[in-house]
Amino acid sequence: MNPCKFLEKQGFEVTYLKVDEHGLIDLRQLEESIKNDTILVSIMYANNEVGTIQPIQEIAKLCRSRGVFFHTDAVQAVGKIPVDVKDLGVDLLSLSGHKLYGPKGVGALYIRKGLELEPLLRGGHHEQMRRAGTENVAGIVGLGEAARIAQEEMGQEGEKIRALRDQLERGIVEKIPEIKVNGHPSRRLLNTLNVCIKYIEGESMLIHLDFEGVCASSGSACTSGSLEPSHVLLAMGIPPEVAHGSLRFSLGRFTTSQEIQKVLEVFPPITERLRKISPLWQRK
Ligand SMILES: *Cc1c(COP(=O)(O)O)cnc(C)c1O
Repeated sequence: MNPCKFLEKQGFEVTYLKVDEHGLIDLRQLEESIKNDTILVSIMYANNEVGTIQPIQEIAKLCRSRGVFFHTDAVQAVGKIPVDVKDLGVDLLSLSGHKLYGPKGVGALYIRKGLELEPLLRGGHHEQMRRAGTENVAGIVGLGEAARIAQEEMGQEGEKIRALRDQLERGIVEKIPEIKVNGHPSRRLLNTLNVCIKYIEGESMLIHLDFEGVCASSGSACTSGSLEPSHVLLAMGIPPEVAHGSLRFSLGRFTTSQEIQKVLEVFPPITERLRKISPLWQRK
């Protein structure tokens, strides 16, 4: 969003696509938005807040047929679902090391062969003149190794994580009334659970969960500290007062069944207590 705003300041015209209630873009709207002078389409592969997975292959096909470059931010997808740039047909794809258990401070941009880019940083001839500066060798090796491990473990690990996520989701849906599970029911990352607990606020739940040793998040890390409701949930048509009660649980390689059971023990009473003192709950 911020690079788009920056481009607008420089005189570029940017179209922002709408999403449906599950966070999916509309391919028809995308097609109608492409103009003769459109140079780039950029759409996230999987959303970091709700986990919705976009139809990247179809988008790439559409962009190619219209002669427009297509970039996808695949930071959330790589390491969790199989990603094959050739199969997807994308021109550009970005990923980040620390989201797949690699080191922080390193990422990668896939550039389809034949596509020429302006350098990101000018200076030395490093990285094929695309990004001047001595390479972060340790980071690059770490990212490579993380990718190798992800490739090897993804299938089995993914099924384990999905089962735990589903167990958490079922438990929360059973134990807590008046909630909403966000994101697409099936086209969703297997480790992500985003829920709105109506009538209370995400921030208060986070503090109580933290006392119990449970780490979760409301909104995205990029906007943590902001008390505005998530723009992702608002774009999905969720009313601001409901979006305020959103919480995201992200499971990973090291999440255990005991941890899920613990969350299911401590979380419902927290929501009950907070609702008891919530004027919105009392007035409903
Ligand atoms: C984390 C994240 C980023 C940012 O990557 P960093 O390497 O942490 O700066 C970008 N896009 C998505 C979807 C992310 O989840």
